[in-house]
Amino acid sequence: MPELPEVETIVRGLAPRVRGRRIDTVWWSGQGLHLGRKVDLAGLRAVAVGRAVAGVRRRGKYILLEVTGLGGEGVIIHLGMTGRLRVQPAATARAPHTHVVFALAGGDELRFVDARRFGWVTPGRPLARDPALAGLGPDPLSELDAPALARALAGARAPIKAFLLDQHRIAGLGNIYVAEALFLAGVHPATPAARLVGRTEALLRAVRTSLEGGIARRGTTLRDYVDADGFAGDNARALLVYGRAGEPCVRCGARIRRRLDGGRATFYCPRCQRR
Ligand SMILES: [Zn+2]
Repeated sequence: MPELPEVETIVRGLAPRVRGRRIDTVWWSGQGLHLGRKVDLAGLRAVAVGRAVAGVRRRGKYILLEVTGLGGEGVIIHLGMTGRLRVQPAATARAPHTHVVFALAGGDELRFVDARRFGWVTPGRPLARDPALAGLGPDPLSELDAPALARALAGARAPIKAFLLDQHRIAGLGNIYVAEALFLAGVHPATPAARLVGRTEALLRAVRTSLEGGIARRGTTLRDYVDADGFAGDNARALLVYGRAGEPCVRCGARIRRRLDGGRATFYCPRCQRR
């Protein structure tokens, strides 16, 4: 699933291609997306048609297409597991699994392609009041600071891995970058979050280092993720623990372990990340 660095990479690639361009029509395949939900085509047309794209922003793992006008309206896109966004000429054949298309003035189309249909595309009327966005925690790169993180850790009962994955606490982290951050911080994933208050600064630094590395290498491609140009990211070969079970730790040489927590894989070094 795309996490903050992948979404940020897509936003950076997309913004110069769509900013300032008018949306002429919106098309939907008729197939349900996330949880089989229908796309609110009438709602998308109401916010988008006839307006220009004012900006493309990221909020956690969400992509926000802001449109011109005073209402703060726009389109909210979540890529789910396999969602992709591409800007292509209308004359280019649409890829299989194309589900939502915004036709742009000048002949290009912004296309949402999603093979597994876990993603979604919804109107934000306005964006700021969308319940999914309103419930998101601070952005770890631009909003979260050490005092706020320390307060949140102090009041938490969850293990640190679950704490960092909770989008209400911090927006944008997923399984890959949490594993990398906890390795960088030397913290075992099952450590109770509240016990890390004294190491808040190091933890925040590790989270940022893992995310910034991911952005610098234009995202982690394990299977499906590609950027707005259709290219895979380079971060997979820079991963320190994620997906490296049985391989030697880059720091100490111990074998990286993989365990399952609630059905999700956790990767860590048993020597560098002691309980
Ligand atoms: Zn190690």
